Amino acid sequence: MTVHFGCTQCGKCCIGLKLTLSIDEAIVWSEQGRPVQILIEARPQFDAPDPEDELARFELERTFPAVCGDLPIRVGMVLATAFDGPCPNLQPDLRCGQYEQRPRICRTYPLPARPLAQLEPASRLCPPEAWRSDLPVLTTGGEIADEDMRSIIADHRRALIEDAPALQAVSKLLGCFRAGLADEGFVVLSPAPADLAKGLRRARSEEMSQISKPQWTYVTNRRSTAETLRAGGGMAELVPAGHGYLAGFADDL
Ligand code: SF4
Ligand code: SF4
Repeated sequence: MTVHFGCTQCGKCCIGLKLTLSIDEAIVWSEQGRPVQILIEARPQFDAPDPEDELARFELERTFPAVCGDLPIRVGMVLATAFDGPCPNLQPDLRCGQYEQRPRICRTYPLPARPLAQLEPASRLCPPEAWRSDLPVLTTGGEIADEDMRSIIADHRRALIEDAPALQAVSKLLGCFRAGLADEGFVVLSPAPADLAKGLRRARSEEMSQISKPQWTYVTNRRSTAETLRAGGGMAELVPAGHGYLAGFADDL
């Protein structure tokens, strides 16, 4: 299938957003006084993936190993901006006020940044006229047509992988060893922008090995999940949604 696309500059993808940022991008963002959250999830340790399995390889490389009770786990931390309304960089004429410095994820929308994720126009915010068949080809047979776009997405994924050790150091700096169970929810930290910028710079420049094996705890808003994790030897904390926990499911406490 071939997908054609042309941005109409409607600005919809700049409103009510959650943008995944690399550390470099998050430093720029937070030094401008803009909030950046840290989203934390974890999943049980998994075997080394088939080298051909791009998605599993990405999941392995963007996470770091840790322990939760008796369970070996892998923790994934993501930096993200989150706004209910318009992005603070969005100008009244719907142009980006930080065009040259905008994050990579803004440069590649509506393409999905995750490996193997297929573009589904109906799930994107772009209006129908952005997908007219007389517009340039965006993807064909699932492959991105434009070399520059391919390269920006590859750089974004590489940055997320390269950032993992520094984000592990950030968890130590913040003394936060709590994570949502992958595919259920995230622990959300909302540090003050100036503190985050300072912490990210420090985490990249210092050896943070003082706490060699911190114990992590799963956070969930589902009693059945907490019981299953504890029965398997893990540690679990039951919390209601909100209060620093972004839940994918309704509370079942
Ligand atoms: S940084 Fe620019 S392109 Fe990205 S969401 Fe904000 S206004 Fe839109
Ligand atoms: S939602 Fe789509 S069409 Fe509208 S500005 Fe964003 S990329 Fe362009």
